Amino acid sequence: MPGFELFGDAERKEVQDVLDSGVLMRYGFDAMREGHWKAKDLEHTLQTKLQVKHAHLVSSGTAAVSVAMAVAGVGAGDEVIMPTFTFVASFEAIMMLGAIPVLVDIDSSLTLDPQAVEAAITPKTKAIMPVHMCGSMANLSALQAICSKHNLLLIEDACQAIGGFYKGKPLGSIGDLGCFSFDFVKTITCGEGGVVVTNNTNYYKHAHEYTDHGHDHIGMDRGAEAHPYLGYNFRISELQAAVGLAQARRLYDFVAIQKKHYQLIKNILASIPELRFRTVPEGGEESYGFLNFFLPDLETARKTMAGFKTAGVDACFHYFDNNWHYIRKWDHLKNLKTLYPVSPEVKAGLAYLQTKSFEQSDLFIGRNISCLIKLSWTEDMVLERAHKMKTAILEALK
Ligand SMILES: *Cc1c(COP(=O)(O)O)cnc(C)c1O
Repeated sequence: MPGFELFGDAERKEVQDVLDSGVLMRYGFDAMREGHWKAKDLEHTLQTKLQVKHAHLVSSGTAAVSVAMAVAGVGAGDEVIMPTFTFVASFEAIMMLGAIPVLVDIDSSLTLDPQAVEAAITPKTKAIMPVHMCGSMANLSALQAICSKHNLLLIEDACQAIGGFYKGKPLGSIGDLGCFSFDFVKTITCGEGGVVVTNNTNYYKHAHEYTDHGHDHIGMDRGAEAHPYLGYNFRISELQAAVGLAQARRLYDFVAIQKKHYQLIKNILASIPELRFRTVPEGGEESYGFLNFFLPDLETARKTMAGFKTAGVDACFHYFDNNWHYIRKWDHLKNLKTLYPVSPEVKAGLAYLQTKSFEQSDLFIGRNISCLIKLSWTEDMVLERAHKMKTAILEALK
């Protein structure tokens, strides 16, 4: 990742079709569109690639997560369990519905710790949202068992893990609903966009309506459509879908390139005895968009990052010191800074964030370095990079 590294003639052709017809809207304008339905074609492509009954495109990954919860009935005052390590979007999407994000610790998989999840369940809990950060997953069988036991929804934020698998099933297809992002830096990109996938026809129907102002999409005349309930506009445009279509067709080619680069680097770093790779649960197959490893302590991780910088090794992240992906620096969320008043229930529900410490998460994130795997590298570049990384890590370990 990111997919934009491999933009080319395929993307150009799909976009040209849309510009030639002039129809940028995914619905209607049948006579003008010269048979081009890019959003529909992309949905069909994703259904096949992700082995799901339904896929509904939306305007972003953040919208996908929020829409997934809305169509399954998550709303005001409901608690949604999510990990401390994710992109801020997971938190935002829950807040958008007036629901309450309940953050719990991660384990050595860098995703939800099932024991911490079980301990956080209350009578208000409605859903568990694992986030497949940096291309890999939590123990989803354990989370499924918890969901069945407590009658909870399982909603996968798979925005960073398209192309990964768990026990033979594509990530995103395992829970009640799965969410993906096609923003500019993701494995499959169309600029801005996302998708909700599900095998539940009712959720799919709701997603279709809810993301288009509640239009029921029955009949050809949009002006005559009924509105069964309140909706919003989370639509994708044909232009974005066109780019996404050209990209999504090559999904597993992209994953194969990532896997090759990942394994070359991993093999070289594996000779460092003090280094540990993230745990991938049994039956899990990463999407290989990132290589994640642990150093023995926080100080060594920081020294390694400094060494990478000196050596010119870019695209590696120490999330402990990063503003976007880890609870430690989310002061605006911990202190509930909003432009508008928040309900007293949500305020009370989030009070824990001001005092709660997440020591277990700190231990893993403090020692973790996460390196992006790029698609455009040559094998020589990958090997040169891996050797620079190894030298910098050995130096930091001295
Ligand atoms: C990128 C991302 C999102 C949000 O996607 P956008 O398309 O940028 O809104 C949500 N969750 C995770 C884990 C992400 O990485």
